[in-house]
Amino acid sequence: MSKMPALFIGHGSPMNTLEQNSYTEAWRAFGRHLPRPRALLVVSAHWYFGATAITAMPQPRTIHDFYGFPQALFDFQYPAPGDTDLAREITEQLKPQWVGLDRDQWGIDHGAWSVLAHLYPEADIPVLQLSINALRPLEYHLALAASLAPLRDQGVMIVASGNVVHNLSALRRRGPAQAYDWAERFDDAVADQVTQAPGDLLRMVSHPDYDLAVPTPDHFIPLLYLAGLAAAENRPLEPLVRGHAMGSISMSCFGLGADMALRRVPDCAAKLAEGVPPDQMNI
Ligand code: ZN
Repeated sequence: MSKMPALFIGHGSPMNTLEQNSYTEAWRAFGRHLPRPRALLVVSAHWYFGATAITAMPQPRTIHDFYGFPQALFDFQYPAPGDTDLAREITEQLKPQWVGLDRDQWGIDHGAWSVLAHLYPEADIPVLQLSINALRPLEYHLALAASLAPLRDQGVMIVASGNVVHNLSALRRRGPAQAYDWAERFDDAVADQVTQAPGDLLRMVSHPDYDLAVPTPDHFIPLLYLAGLAAAENRPLEPLVRGHAMGSISMSCFGLGADMALRRVPDCAAKLAEGVPPDQMNI
């Protein structure tokens, strides 16, 4: 079996679930053109709590972990099955690192399903979520990611869903969606870093725009999982989509082992981000 690609998706508003725009079109293209995985292991910014755990229920529930959105979003269901055997196998593989099996607490949160609704709209591939342990330092997540690397040889696609830049207090809800200068600078710097030396991504913590771009670490940490996987393989990440929403949200997406498959599709290749730093380009 060939190595499964891994993805980092900049996820944006939950409304993307129901909308069609250049980002959701890109996510659909990823699902259509990448090899079909046996299961999806999702690291979402929205399962950020005090332990490392993996969902292990046969039918994970769709969690509507937000407020103030239209009813249609609360009615949305992503009925993908889980895979309890795979969850157990992963906890074994990660030993001596302790990973809890979550049989009845979490499920599939909107950081996962707002993206999966487009990546795999049929919801017919088993989904497991891995929590982000909020009590551990950033280095822990890079290292844990490296130990997930063998899953890519077992047909598991790792999808990390967060944002390079995520500052809700600076959102521009009206007017031009153009990114703040600091948001563009940080997004470009991170793109440079992960496409050159992803294992050194934590250098970005001392970037002058880090505090504005990453006021809390939850949405940034998913990128550490892609960076850790890339470092484990001694390969750079590939820029797949670059762009911003509402001024202070980066929609940039990166891949590992993904862009060759996507570049073979003429329609897709024309839209892929070229080199770094690229123009502000939406796929
Ligand atoms: Zn989010």
